[in-house]
Amino acid sequence: MSQDISAKPSKPAKLVIRNIGLLLCGDLERPILDADTVTAVDGIIEAVGREKDLDLSGATTVVDAKGTALAPGLIDSHVHPVCGDWTPRQNQLGWIDSCLNGGVTTMVSAGEVHTPGRPKDIVGLKAMAIFAQRAFHAFRPGGVKIHAGAPVLEQGMVEDDFKELSAAGVKFLGEVGLGSVKDGVTGRRMVAWARKHGIQSTIHTGGPSIPGSSLIDKDMVLETDADVIGHINGGHTALPDDQIAELCERSPRAIEIVHNGNERAALFALRTAKDLKQLHRVILGTDSPAGSGVQPLGILRMICMLSSLGEIPAEIAICLATGNTAKMRNLNCGRIAPAREASFLLMDMAQHSSGKNLLDSIQKGDLPGIGMVITDGNVSVQRSRNTPPATRVPEVVKH
Ligand SMILES: [Zn+2]
Repeated sequence: MSQDISAKPSKPAKLVIRNIGLLLCGDLERPILDADTVTAVDGIIEAVGREKDLDLSGATTVVDAKGTALAPGLIDSHVHPVCGDWTPRQNQLGWIDSCLNGGVTTMVSAGEVHTPGRPKDIVGLKAMAIFAQRAFHAFRPGGVKIHAGAPVLEQGMVEDDFKELSAAGVKFLGEVGLGSVKDGVTGRRMVAWARKHGIQSTIHTGGPSIPGSSLIDKDMVLETDADVIGHINGGHTALPDDQIAELCERSPRAIEIVHNGNERAALFALRTAKDLKQLHRVILGTDSPAGSGVQPLGILRMICMLSSLGEIPAEIAICLATGNTAKMRNLNCGRIAPAREASFLLMDMAQHSSGKNLLDSIQKGDLPGIGMVITDGNVSVQRSRNTPPATRVPEVVKH
Protein backbone atom coordinates (compact mmCIF):
# COMPACT_ATOMS: atom_id res chain seq x y z
CA MET A 1 0.00 0.00 0.00
CA SER A 2 1.43 3.37 -0.94
CA GLN A 3 1.08 6.40 1.23
CA ASP A 4 1.42 10.05 0.36
CA ILE A 5 3.61 11.02 3.28
CA SER A 6 4.15 14.50 1.91
CA ALA A 7 0.49 15.29 2.57
CA LYS A 8 0.82 14.58 6.28
CA PRO A 9 2.53 17.10 8.53
CA SER A 10 5.40 15.16 10.11
CA LYS A 11 5.20 14.89 13.85
CA PRO A 12 7.85 16.95 15.61
CA ALA A 13 10.44 14.92 17.50
CA LYS A 14 10.02 15.91 21.12
CA LEU A 15 12.57 14.86 23.71
CA VAL A 16 11.81 15.02 27.43
CA ILE A 17 14.55 14.48 30.01
CA ARG A 18 13.09 14.23 33.49
CA ASN A 19 14.27 13.40 36.97
CA ILE A 20 17.55 15.30 36.52
CA GLY A 21 19.45 15.37 39.82
CA LEU A 22 21.82 18.23 38.98
CA LEU A 23 21.54 20.63 36.08
CA LEU A 24 24.91 22.03 34.98
CA CYS A 25 23.92 24.63 32.39
CA GLY A 26 27.32 25.79 31.10
CA ASP A 27 26.89 29.42 32.18
CA LEU A 28 29.92 30.62 34.12
CA GLU A 29 27.83 33.26 35.91
CA ARG A 30 25.32 30.71 37.15
CA PRO A 31 26.60 27.19 36.50
CA ILE A 32 23.89 25.26 38.41
CA LEU A 33 20.20 25.71 37.62
CA ASP A 34 17.35 24.83 39.94
CA ALA A 35 15.62 22.54 37.43
CA ASP A 36 14.90 18.84 36.99
CA THR A 37 13.41 18.66 33.48
CA VAL A 38 14.40 19.73 29.97
CA THR A 39 12.31 19.49 26.81
CA ALA A 40 13.54 19.82 23.23
CA VAL A 41 11.76 19.85 19.89
CA ASP A 42 13.49 18.85 16.66
CA GLY A 43 16.91 19.15 18.25
CA ILE A 44 16.45 22.55 19.87
CA ILE A 45 15.87 23.12 23.59
CA GLU A 46 12.33 24.31 24.23
CA ALA A 47 12.09 24.62 28.02
CA VAL A 48 14.16 24.10 31.18
CA GLY A 49 12.51 23.98 34.59
CA ARG A 50 10.58 21.95 37.14
CA GLU A 51 8.57 19.03 35.78
CA LYS A 52 5.31 20.30 37.27
CA ASP A 53 5.66 23.60 35.40
CA LEU A 54 6.49 22.20 31.94
CA ASP A 55 4.41 20.80 29.09
CA LEU A 56 5.57 17.22 28.59
CA SER A 57 2.79 16.24 26.18
CA GLY A 58 3.57 14.85 22.76
CA ALA A 59 6.96 13.46 23.78
CA THR A 60 8.43 11.06 21.23
CA THR A 61 11.42 10.18 23.45
CA VAL A 62 11.47 10.28 27.24
CA VAL A 63 14.67 9.87 29.21
CA ASP A 64 14.51 9.19 32.94
CA ALA A 65 17.76 10.72 34.19
CA LYS A 66 17.47 8.69 37.42
CA GLY A 67 18.86 11.57 39.46
CA THR A 68 22.08 11.92 37.41
CA ALA A 69 23.60 15.20 36.24
CA LEU A 70 22.79 16.81 32.90
CA ALA A 71 25.40 19.04 31.25
CA PRO A 72 25.74 20.47 27.75
CA GLY A 73 27.64 18.17 25.37
CA LEU A 74 31.34 18.99 25.62
CA ILE A 75 33.05 21.07 22.93
CA ASP A 76 36.58 20.32 21.78
CA SER A 77 37.89 23.68 20.62
CA HIS A 78 40.97 22.28 18.89
CA VAL A 79 41.02 19.17 16.73
CA HIS A 80 42.81 18.20 13.53
CA PRO A 81 40.37 16.05 11.53
CA VAL A 82 41.27 14.86 8.05
CA CYS A 83 38.59 12.78 6.37
CA GLY A 84 35.68 10.87 7.81
CA ASP A 85 36.43 9.17 11.12
CA TRP A 86 40.05 8.38 10.19
CA THR A 87 43.26 10.08 11.21
CA PRO A 88 46.49 9.40 9.36
CA ARG A 89 48.52 10.91 12.22
CA GLN A 90 48.17 7.74 14.29
CA ASN A 91 46.48 5.75 11.53
CA GLN A 92 43.44 5.31 13.67
CA LEU A 93 39.82 4.69 12.74
CA GLY A 94 36.81 5.72 14.79
CA TRP A 95 38.55 8.38 16.89
CA ILE A 96 35.63 10.83 16.68
CA ASP A 97 33.13 8.20 17.78
CA SER A 98 35.46 7.38 20.68
CA CYS A 99 35.45 11.06 21.71
CA LEU A 100 31.63 11.02 21.58
CA ASN A 101 31.87 8.29 24.22
CA GLY A 102 33.90 10.84 26.19
CA GLY A 103 31.02 13.33 26.10
CA VAL A 104 32.19 15.47 23.15
CA THR A 105 29.35 16.45 20.84
CA THR A 106 30.98 19.36 18.97
CA MET A 107 34.48 19.81 17.57
CA VAL A 108 36.19 22.81 15.98
CA SER A 109 38.92 22.15 13.44
CA ALA A 110 42.18 24.02 13.86
CA GLY A 111 43.17 22.93 10.37
CA GLU A 112 43.08 19.68 8.40
CA VAL A 113 46.85 19.80 8.47
CA HIS A 114 47.50 16.07 8.66
CA THR A 115 45.99 15.48 5.23
CA PRO A 116 48.55 13.49 3.27
CA GLY A 117 49.83 15.68 0.44
CA ARG A 118 48.07 18.77 1.82
CA PRO A 119 48.05 21.39 -0.96
CA LYS A 120 49.93 24.58 -0.12
CA ASP A 121 49.14 26.58 -3.23
CA ILE A 122 46.27 29.02 -2.79
CA VAL A 123 43.75 27.42 -5.15
CA GLY A 124 44.51 24.03 -3.63
CA LEU A 125 44.25 25.12 -0.01
CA LYS A 126 40.93 26.85 -0.67
CA ALA A 127 39.58 23.79 -2.46
CA MET A 128 40.64 21.55 0.42
CA ALA A 129 39.04 23.81 3.03
CA ILE A 130 35.75 23.93 1.14
CA PHE A 131 35.85 20.16 0.66
CA ALA A 132 36.42 19.58 4.40
CA GLN A 133 33.66 22.00 5.36
CA ARG A 134 31.22 20.26 3.04
CA ALA A 135 32.28 16.72 3.92
CA PHE A 136 32.07 17.16 7.70
CA HIS A 137 28.85 19.12 7.41
CA ALA A 138 27.34 16.10 5.71
CA PHE A 139 29.05 13.41 7.80
CA ARG A 140 28.70 13.38 11.58
CA PRO A 141 30.30 10.31 13.16
CA GLY A 142 27.89 9.11 15.84
CA GLY A 143 26.20 12.51 15.70
CA VAL A 144 29.28 14.64 16.55
CA LYS A 145 29.13 18.02 14.83
CA ILE A 146 32.51 18.94 13.35
CA HIS A 147 33.10 22.51 12.27
CA ALA A 148 35.81 21.76 9.74
CA GLY A 149 37.24 23.40 6.65
CA ALA A 150 39.91 25.49 8.34
CA PRO A 151 42.47 26.72 5.80
CA VAL A 152 46.04 27.37 6.87
CA LEU A 153 47.45 30.76 5.90
CA GLU A 154 50.04 30.75 3.16
CA GLN A 155 52.04 33.63 1.69
CA GLY A 156 50.34 35.34 -1.23
CA MET A 157 46.74 35.15 -0.02
CA VAL A 158 44.73 38.29 -0.74
CA GLU A 159 41.50 39.67 0.71
CA ASP A 160 39.40 38.16 -2.09
CA ASP A 161 40.53 34.69 -0.99
CA PHE A 162 38.92 35.22 2.41
CA LYS A 163 35.80 36.68 0.83
CA GLU A 164 35.52 33.63 -1.41
CA LEU A 165 36.13 31.19 1.47
CA SER A 166 33.51 32.92 3.60
CA ALA A 167 30.94 32.88 0.80
CA ALA A 168 31.59 29.14 0.46
CA GLY A 169 30.78 28.51 4.13
CA VAL A 170 34.23 28.52 5.76
CA LYS A 171 33.99 29.87 9.32
CA PHE A 172 37.38 29.13 10.91
CA LEU A 173 41.03 29.46 9.96
CA GLY A 174 43.51 26.73 10.73
CA GLU A 175 46.24 27.61 13.22
CA VAL A 176 48.23 30.61 12.04
CA GLY A 177 51.87 29.59 11.85
CA LEU A 178 51.40 26.08 10.49
CA GLY A 179 51.80 27.37 6.93
CA SER A 180 54.28 29.76 5.36
CA VAL A 181 52.96 32.86 7.19
CA LYS A 182 55.29 33.12 10.16
CA ASP A 183 55.56 36.86 10.77
CA GLY A 184 53.22 39.08 12.78
CA VAL A 185 52.73 41.74 10.11
CA THR A 186 51.43 39.32 7.46
CA GLY A 187 49.54 37.29 10.08
CA ARG A 188 47.78 40.37 11.38
CA ARG A 189 46.78 41.54 7.91
CA MET A 190 45.32 38.16 6.93
CA VAL A 191 43.58 37.61 10.28
CA ALA A 192 41.94 41.03 9.88
CA TRP A 193 40.71 40.09 6.39
CA ALA A 194 39.36 36.83 7.75
CA ARG A 195 37.59 38.65 10.62
CA LYS A 196 36.11 41.22 8.21
CA HIS A 197 34.56 38.36 6.25
CA GLY A 198 33.25 36.50 9.30
CA ILE A 199 36.02 33.89 9.60
CA GLN A 200 37.44 33.25 13.08
CA SER A 201 41.15 32.70 13.63
CA THR A 202 43.44 30.75 15.96
CA ILE A 203 47.20 31.00 16.33
CA HIS A 204 49.63 28.22 17.23
CA THR A 205 51.38 29.33 20.44
CA GLY A 206 54.71 28.00 21.68
CA GLY A 207 57.38 25.73 20.31
CA PRO A 208 57.13 23.53 17.22
CA SER A 209 54.69 20.59 17.49
CA ILE A 210 56.39 18.24 15.10
CA PRO A 211 59.49 18.50 12.92
CA GLY A 212 58.74 21.12 10.26
CA SER A 213 56.66 23.50 12.38
CA SER A 214 58.22 26.40 14.25
CA LEU A 215 58.25 28.55 17.41
CA ILE A 216 55.63 31.27 17.82
CA ASP A 217 56.37 33.54 20.75
CA LYS A 218 54.22 36.08 22.58
CA ASP A 219 55.31 38.95 20.31
CA MET A 220 53.95 37.22 17.22
CA VAL A 221 50.77 36.16 19.08
CA LEU A 222 50.14 39.73 20.23
CA GLU A 223 50.94 41.24 16.86
CA THR A 224 48.81 38.79 14.87
CA ASP A 225 45.86 39.27 17.24
CA ALA A 226 44.02 36.09 16.23
CA ASP A 227 40.65 35.48 17.94
CA VAL A 228 41.98 32.50 19.90
CA ILE A 229 45.39 32.15 21.54
CA GLY A 230 45.63 28.52 20.45
CA HIS A 231 47.08 26.12 23.02
CA ILE A 232 48.52 28.78 25.30
CA ASN A 233 50.09 25.86 27.21
CA GLY A 234 52.00 24.76 24.11
CA GLY A 235 51.39 21.93 21.79
CA HIS A 236 53.57 20.45 23.39
CA THR A 237 56.34 22.95 24.14
CA ALA A 238 55.05 25.89 26.18
CA LEU A 239 56.30 29.46 26.24
CA PRO A 240 58.01 30.60 29.45
CA ASP A 241 55.61 31.59 32.26
CA ASP A 242 56.28 35.32 31.90
CA GLN A 243 55.18 35.18 28.25
CA ILE A 244 52.02 33.20 29.11
CA ALA A 245 51.20 35.79 31.80
CA GLU A 246 51.75 38.63 29.35
CA LEU A 247 49.41 37.05 26.80
CA CYS A 248 46.68 36.67 29.43
CA GLU A 249 47.19 40.28 30.55
CA ARG A 250 47.66 42.11 27.26
CA SER A 251 45.50 40.21 24.79
CA PRO A 252 41.69 40.29 25.07
CA ARG A 253 41.39 37.08 23.03
CA ALA A 254 40.32 33.56 24.05
CA ILE A 255 42.81 31.61 26.18
CA GLU A 256 42.79 28.06 24.88
CA ILE A 257 44.22 25.30 27.07
CA VAL A 258 44.74 21.88 25.47
CA HIS A 259 45.22 18.32 26.64
CA ASN A 260 48.17 17.69 24.30
CA GLY A 261 50.13 20.52 25.86
CA ASN A 262 52.28 21.21 28.87
CA GLU A 263 50.14 20.45 31.93
CA ARG A 264 52.11 22.65 34.34
CA ALA A 265 51.75 25.54 31.88
CA ALA A 266 48.03 24.75 31.64
CA LEU A 267 47.66 25.21 35.39
CA PHE A 268 49.76 28.39 35.27
CA ALA A 269 47.54 29.85 32.52
CA LEU A 270 44.39 28.91 34.43
CA ARG A 271 45.63 30.52 37.66
CA THR A 272 46.73 33.63 35.78
CA ALA A 273 43.34 33.98 34.11
CA LYS A 274 41.59 33.40 37.43
CA ASP A 275 43.71 36.05 39.19
CA LEU A 276 42.95 38.50 36.38
CA LYS A 277 39.21 37.68 36.67
CA GLN A 278 39.33 36.52 33.06
CA LEU A 279 38.02 32.97 33.46
CA HIS A 280 35.33 33.72 30.86
CA ARG A 281 38.12 33.72 28.23
CA VAL A 282 39.36 30.22 29.06
CA ILE A 283 38.32 27.48 26.62
CA LEU A 284 39.41 23.84 26.30
CA GLY A 285 40.62 21.62 23.49
CA THR A 286 42.59 18.45 23.02
CA ASP A 287 44.76 19.36 19.99
CA SER A 288 44.22 15.80 18.85
CA PRO A 289 44.94 13.80 16.77
CA ALA A 290 48.57 14.70 17.27
CA GLY A 291 51.91 13.19 18.13
CA SER A 292 50.49 12.47 21.58
CA GLY A 293 47.67 10.55 19.98
CA VAL A 294 43.93 10.78 20.40
CA GLN A 295 42.35 11.01 23.83
CA PRO A 296 38.67 10.04 23.78
CA LEU A 297 38.40 11.34 27.36
CA GLY A 298 40.71 14.31 26.76
CA ILE A 299 38.19 17.06 27.51
CA LEU A 300 36.90 15.21 30.60
CA ARG A 301 40.50 14.76 31.75
CA MET A 302 41.11 18.50 31.33
CA ILE A 303 38.01 19.28 33.39
CA CYS A 304 39.22 16.97 36.18
CA MET A 305 42.82 18.18 36.03
CA LEU A 306 41.93 21.87 36.09
CA SER A 307 39.34 21.37 38.82
CA SER A 308 41.42 19.13 41.09
CA LEU A 309 44.87 20.71 40.65
CA GLY A 310 43.80 24.20 39.54
CA GLU A 311 41.36 24.45 42.42
CA ILE A 312 38.29 25.62 40.58
CA PRO A 313 34.86 24.17 41.37
CA ALA A 314 33.88 21.30 39.05
CA GLU A 315 30.79 23.14 37.82
CA ILE A 316 33.03 26.03 36.71
CA ALA A 317 35.51 23.69 35.00
CA ILE A 318 32.60 22.22 33.01
CA CYS A 319 31.67 25.74 31.82
CA LEU A 320 35.15 26.14 30.32
CA ALA A 321 34.45 23.16 28.04
CA THR A 322 30.88 24.17 27.19
CA GLY A 323 29.43 27.68 27.54
CA ASN A 324 32.77 29.49 27.39
CA THR A 325 33.87 27.74 24.20
CA ALA A 326 30.47 28.24 22.60
CA LYS A 327 30.60 31.95 23.36
CA MET A 328 34.17 32.44 22.14
CA ARG A 329 33.53 30.30 19.03
CA ASN A 330 30.05 31.71 18.21
CA LEU A 331 28.37 28.30 18.46
CA ASN A 332 24.74 27.67 19.39
CA CYS A 333 25.60 24.72 21.64
CA GLY A 334 27.32 24.54 25.03
CA ARG A 335 24.48 25.91 27.14
CA ILE A 336 21.29 24.42 28.52
CA ALA A 337 18.84 27.18 27.71
CA PRO A 338 15.87 27.60 25.38
CA ALA A 339 16.74 27.93 21.66
CA ARG A 340 20.14 26.25 22.10
CA GLU A 341 21.09 22.97 20.42
CA ALA A 342 19.85 19.95 22.37
CA SER A 343 23.19 18.18 22.77
CA PHE A 344 23.78 16.80 26.25
CA LEU A 345 25.81 14.60 28.46
CA LEU A 346 24.31 12.68 31.39
CA MET A 347 26.84 11.64 33.99
CA ASP A 348 27.27 10.53 37.56
CA MET A 349 30.09 9.90 39.99
CA ALA A 350 32.14 6.89 38.86
CA GLN A 351 31.58 3.71 40.84
CA HIS A 352 33.85 3.50 43.91
CA SER A 353 35.05 7.12 43.67
CA SER A 354 36.02 8.53 47.06
CA GLY A 355 34.00 11.67 46.27
CA LYS A 356 30.79 12.48 48.13
CA ASN A 357 28.95 13.23 44.88
CA LEU A 358 29.67 13.94 41.20
CA LEU A 359 31.13 17.42 41.68
CA ASP A 360 33.20 16.38 44.69
CA SER A 361 34.55 13.37 42.78
CA ILE A 362 35.70 15.63 39.91
CA GLN A 363 37.32 18.02 42.39
CA LYS A 364 39.17 15.02 43.80
CA GLY A 365 40.45 14.28 40.28
CA ASP A 366 38.25 11.29 39.43
CA LEU A 367 36.73 11.11 35.96
CA PRO A 368 32.94 11.00 35.98
CA GLY A 369 31.04 8.08 34.46
CA ILE A 370 28.99 8.95 31.39
CA GLY A 371 25.60 7.27 31.25
CA MET A 372 24.23 8.83 28.05
CA VAL A 373 25.15 11.28 25.30
CA ILE A 374 22.50 13.08 23.27
CA THR A 375 23.22 14.95 20.03
CA ASP A 376 20.61 17.31 18.55
CA GLY A 377 17.84 15.65 20.53
CA ASN A 378 18.83 12.06 19.61
CA VAL A 379 20.24 9.52 22.06
CA SER A 380 23.63 8.73 20.47
CA VAL A 381 25.35 6.80 23.25
CA GLN A 382 24.03 4.96 26.28
CA ARG A 383 26.50 3.85 28.97
CA SER A 384 29.87 5.07 27.62
CA ARG A 385 32.29 2.37 26.57
CA ASN A 386 35.22 4.59 27.52
CA THR A 387 34.56 6.19 30.92
CA PRO A 388 34.62 4.38 34.25
CA PRO A 389 31.10 3.07 34.96
CA ALA A 390 28.72 5.64 36.38
CA THR A 391 27.05 4.87 39.71
CA ARG A 392 23.57 5.63 38.40
CA VAL A 393 22.63 5.42 34.71
CA PRO A 394 19.75 7.18 32.91
CA GLU A 395 17.28 5.18 30.92
CA VAL A 396 15.23 5.72 27.78
CA VAL A 397 11.71 4.97 29.00
CA LYS A 398 9.86 5.85 25.81
CA HIS A 399 10.87 5.97 22.19
ZN1 LIG B 1 49.44 24.01 17.18
